[in-house]
Amino acid sequence: MWESNQKTLNSEISFSGIGLHSGVNVDVTLIPANSNSGITFKRTDLEKNNEIIANFKNVSSAKLCTKIENDFGASVSTIEHLMAAFYICGVDNLVVNLNGPEVPIMDGSAKDFVKIIKNCGLKTLEGKRKFIKIKKKVELKEDDKSININPTTNNFEVKFTLNYKKSPLIQNQKNSTNFQKKNLEEIYVARTFCLYEDIEAIKSIGLAKGGSLDNAVVVQGNKILNEGGLRSKKEFVNHKILDLAGDFMLSGARVIGSVECIHGGHALTNEFLKKIFSDKNNYDIVENESSSSKVRKILPIHKRLAVNA
Ligand SMILES: [Zn+2]
Repeated sequence: MWESNQKTLNSEISFSGIGLHSGVNVDVTLIPANSNSGITFKRTDLEKNNEIIANFKNVSSAKLCTKIENDFGASVSTIEHLMAAFYICGVDNLVVNLNGPEVPIMDGSAKDFVKIIKNCGLKTLEGKRKFIKIKKKVELKEDDKSININPTTNNFEVKFTLNYKKSPLIQNQKNSTNFQKKNLEEIYVARTFCLYEDIEAIKSIGLAKGGSLDNAVVVQGNKILNEGGLRSKKEFVNHKILDLAGDFMLSGARVIGSVECIHGGHALTNEFLKKIFSDKNNYDIVENESSSSKVRKILPIHKRLAVNA
C-alpha cells in the first residue's frame, strides 16, 4: 500500500565502492532532504555547477547503464540500482553526495543500498506524496523490443520478458512484480549480468573497467561462472525489473500503472518516459488520501514533473 506522506532518511549515512564502468573508487554520502526537493546528485569533486537532478529529462546516455548530466556537463553514471533502492524503500527526497563520476556497483544488485537505507531508517515529512496516475494505454516498439503501460487503480506492476536468444541458459525468462508487495527481496538482490563472450566488446568501448565476478553474474554457455551460482532461478529477469523500477523513479514521482516490457533496457525505458510525458492526456498527477485506494487529482501541470516528489 502506498503511504501518503513523503519520506527522507533519518540521518546522513556514508559508504564507498568501485564504479562498474569507470573502475574508480567513489565515496557516497546520503543526506536527508526536505519535502518536494526530490533526489539530487551532487559531485563533490567538482567545484561548481555540480548538482544533477534525478529526472528522465537529464539522461544523457542509456548505454548499459543510466547516466544523468546537467547543463554544465557534470554527470553521474549507473544511478539505476540506487534509484531502485529509493523506490523500494520509499525514499522521496535526498541529496546524494559523491566524489566521482559513478555510483558504486557494490555486488551488482541493490541489496547493499536497501540494507544501508533500512539500517538508517526513514523520516516522515509533512509534504504529501504525489503520484503519476496513468490514464490510458501508451506503448513504444523498437525492433524486437517493446514496452507499454496501462492504467491500474492504485499500484505499480511490472511484467518483464527477457528474450536472450544468444544464451541457452537465459533464453525467455518472464516474471511480474507488484511493487506494493511487502517483500521485494528477490528483486533487489538480483545482480546485473553479462555473457562471457561480450566482456571484451564491452571493455573495448571503455565500459565495465571495474567489472568482476564480485559485481556481475557472468554466463558462459550453459554455465554460471560465479561461485554459488544464481540467487534465484529468475535472477536475470528480476534484475531487469529492478533496472526498470530505478529508471521509472526518474519520472519525478511514483507511477500508478501496469508496465509490460519485452526485451527492453535503459534506453527503451528512457524513450518511453519521454513519450508518456510528452502528452498530458496520458496521465494525471494525484495525491493519495491517507493510503486509501481513492486518489485526488491535484496538478495536471506538466512542469511539476521536473521535481521529484
Ligand atoms: Zn542493472
